[in-house]
Amino acid sequence: AHLDRIAAVDGDIHAFLHVNTDEALEVASGVDKARAAGEELHTLAGVPIAIKDLIVTVGQPTTAGSKMLEGWMSPYDATVISRIRAARMPMLGKTNLDEFAMGSSTEHSAYGPTRNPWDLDRIPGGSGGGSAAAVAAFEAPLALGTDTGGSIRQPASVTGSVGVKPTYGGVSRYGAIAMASSLDQIGPVSRTVLDAALLQEVIGGHDPRDSTSLTDPVGNLVEAARNGSVAGMRIGVIKELQGEGYQPGVQARFDESLELLKDAGAEIVEVSCPNFKYALGAYYLIMPSEASSNLAKYDGVRYGMRRLPAEPPLTIERVMGATRAAGFGDEVKRRIILGTYALSAGYYDAYYGSAQKVRTLIQRDFNAAFAQADVLISPTSPNTAFKLGEKLDDPLAMYLNDVATIPANMAGVPGISIPGGLADGLPVGIQFLAPAREDVRLYRAGAALE
Ligand code: GLN
Repeated sequence: AHLDRIAAVDGDIHAFLHVNTDEALEVASGVDKARAAGEELHTLAGVPIAIKDLIVTVGQPTTAGSKMLEGWMSPYDATVISRIRAARMPMLGKTNLDEFAMGSSTEHSAYGPTRNPWDLDRIPGGSGGGSAAAVAAFEAPLALGTDTGGSIRQPASVTGSVGVKPTYGGVSRYGAIAMASSLDQIGPVSRTVLDAALLQEVIGGHDPRDSTSLTDPVGNLVEAARNGSVAGMRIGVIKELQGEGYQPGVQARFDESLELLKDAGAEIVEVSCPNFKYALGAYYLIMPSEASSNLAKYDGVRYGMRRLPAEPPLTIERVMGATRAAGFGDEVKRRIILGTYALSAGYYDAYYGSAQKVRTLIQRDFNAAFAQADVLISPTSPNTAFKLGEKLDDPLAMYLNDVATIPANMAGVPGISIPGGLADGLPVGIQFLAPAREDVRLYRAGAALE
């Protein structure tokens, strides 16, 4: 049914870069047979899933939304993919994204934009717009995303879906093509909070192949999602993440959510995180610095395409130059230049070093806020889905979409976006944030509000 739905609507939406028809049907019929034979199966066995094309898969191409990796087939599976196979979930295919996950609208994909199922003239968020649009358009019941600065939560927000960025280290990054390694995290996109919990339990848990993987389990997420409640919970409204700069319709839905939570027995308190105003600036130094280093391997030799210079001499530098000039799009080049500059000798302390200090201040703000509240709350994105092309020529306006999501990545704490109603007919997302390793609180609060 999902493959039929993809065939029917994906021509308009373009959520998928690759549809994995044969393998998906094979896995599904294997599950049918196993069930008929009375085999014990995982709850999600036979439930199909779409995979953001930043996560490597055997048997399906992985492009990262870039010309650089066009046609590339990974020789190994990401850990999350091995776990999805073990649960016997059919993979429907690979979903579109901003090139190397850099963007907030999926317009920076080398393979053309994805459209928002709520309004085809509007963006589905980014960078994981393909995964969110697939779920919102009923092409897939579940999807995987990656979140470095909001790429799961912001697309979920503008498509009326649920999106979770787990605690840093809660889900293995092995096989997620690296953007900024200290910020990246794989997580679920779904239509309900319980669905997300079921998926996070499949993909999460310790992995010796990821040196930053947590060794302790994060708790029973499914139970938390089944027993959603905010009774007696202290919910901290982050003063700095609302009001000015937030679309009036978004603010209105947010204020209503607070009323609903109060009625459900939560205690609403105001918390202040004064350093969050520096989060975006610090992120746009740390992320490009790490990305410029991570992307150095796409040099025409080790990975991806190779382009030879038009004129001799055929030196290695000129092959690298020609390959990277042709293989990377403008946004990726912009960030490589920013990152290389920030890391260059003589500037390191002024830029990267200062940004790391800001990161510590943001962590301290979170610590202080979590001393006053069990979870924090804010709108996920300051605005609803904007029109295609509207912010494409204005990188700063594009970056501002992530003001509310970036602090969580900077501190490694988990966050969830859940649908919070509509403003002018378009979905608004509400974000909960919890202390590191307390993902259960997100599921409990999220399930109470959804
Ligand atoms: N939109 C943000 C950026 O462009 C976040 C990206 C992400 O989370 N992968 O950097």
